[in-house]
Amino acid sequence: MAYVISDDCISCGTCEGECPVGAISMGADHYQIDPDACTECGTCAGVCPVEAIKQA
Ligand code: SF4
Ligand code: SF4
Repeated sequence: MAYVISDDCISCGTCEGECPVGAISMGADHYQIDPDACTECGTCAGVCPVEAIKQA
């Protein structure tokens, strides 16, 4: 279980700097979350302007 970033992501980069464990990085098409690093804190979901981050 982890948070995931959907195709709705507009690659604004806001969430990357907010993750306390550095689990978010730019992927091939949009930002992505490393499921092994994510602690499910939910911070990223709270800052995303387009609600592209959901708990899987
Ligand atoms: Fe990082 Fe928390 Fe988002 Fe997981 S839920 S990617 S730990 S900010
Ligand atoms: Fe994508 Fe939302 Fe992160 Fe911006 S804050 S990079 S739109 S997931």
